[in-house]
Amino acid sequence: MPNPQFNSHNKEEYPPMHTAEHIINRAMCRLFNTGRSVNAHVERKKSRLDFLATQPMGDKEARLLEEEVNRVIQLDLQVTYITTTRQAAEQYDVDLSRIPHDSSEAVRIVQVGDYDTCLCIGSHVAHTQQIGRVEIYSNAYDPERARWRIRYRLTESDPTYND
Ligand SMILES: [Zn+2]
Repeated sequence: MPNPQFNSHNKEEYPPMHTAEHIINRAMCRLFNTGRSVNAHVERKKSRLDFLATQPMGDKEARLLEEEVNRVIQLDLQVTYITTTRQAAEQYDVDLSRIPHDSSEAVRIVQVGDYDTCLCIGSHVAHTQQIGRVEIYSNAYDPERARWRIRYRLTESDPTYND
């Protein structure tokens, strides 16, 4: 099957960091209804994500988000994959808006247990406890752009993913 042409990823990405990104995105949708991040810079040591937020957000929200993300990680959910067609993917709760309607190309759906489902071709851990612990060490709200930026890092990640 051809590679999906969307959501391209750096092949060197660090699976625990990137899988944490999936959980954070879903947690933001569930807790604050922001939708997934509009801008992401995900690196091995530290990462940042920007979310659209019409109301100011700050330390309280960061704490709630961190609690929710670490709660999900501790459930040790399995990360599983479904490779299917764009048409068949419509039955899943994923954003297909960036894929043409008449596309016959393969898409890959990544599921983090029953918590998150999205289209992605990146690298992930096998189960969520391998992520370790997410620490949101700073956040900033930009009222002009209606964006909330968080920065996070991981501690206690599975050494399997370290060099
Ligand atoms: Zn991914």
